[in-house]
Amino acid sequence: MKNSALWEAVAQETPDFALIKQMVADAYHLETGDDPSNIDSLVLWLRRSHMYNDNFPDLMVKLGRLHHAVFDSVEEKIGIIRQRPCYVCLKYPTLPIITFSLRVSPQSRQVELQGAFKRAVAAAMINRREEFAALYDRSLCIAVTFVMAKGRKLSDVDNMAKTYLDALQKSVYRNDRQITHLDAIRLRSHSKETFIVTRIMGTEVDELDDVIRQNFRIKWAGKEIIDLSNYL
Ligand SMILES: [Zn+2]
Repeated sequence: MKNSALWEAVAQETPDFALIKQMVADAYHLETGDDPSNIDSLVLWLRRSHMYNDNFPDLMVKLGRLHHAVFDSVEEKIGIIRQRPCYVCLKYPTLPIITFSLRVSPQSRQVELQGAFKRAVAAAMINRREEFAALYDRSLCIAVTFVMAKGRKLSDVDNMAKTYLDALQKSVYRNDRQITHLDAIRLRSHSKETFIVTRIMGTEVDELDDVIRQNFRIKWAGKEIIDLSNYL
């Protein structure tokens, strides 16, 4: 695998996943002589290449770039996505950033399961209140990743978020009204695994401390306000 050709393919704005996977498979075959259809061996080889394969001297440092195009496995993809930072709120680094996982099946708004889900989440978080003390009454930025088991009927991500964020009240924060920024992603695990990963931090994105002229002016260029009373 010519490094330069790979990085060129990876750097495309819309990477050709099939091409990049083929390049990785070709490199694996060239180096090991083994059949690239043995995916487990190929992934193991790729992971080891990150670490110490002299033929890929810059793979380790450019791993982030490889992830722009392809991941070696579902768990790697979920692992990278769950660690996503918030580039908006990181500007206000006043509070701790806390990440935690709960091995529980996300629930939507089905009445029978919703109550049990909320009680289960509250029970799981009950001994961790101290950890979240600095965030308890603050404006919050929350990123949630719902990982769904294979075969599970997919629920709306907004409904799962509503139920989950309700469930964290009184342990992680006082009230879900404190959430200023919410980032929710639903992923499938392609296995029996189902869990929820949460990243939470304080944010001042809704404050104007970083604004010079604080009165709001906007030109709508003749665009009329949509009057709800016309639709009542
Ligand atoms: Zn944010």
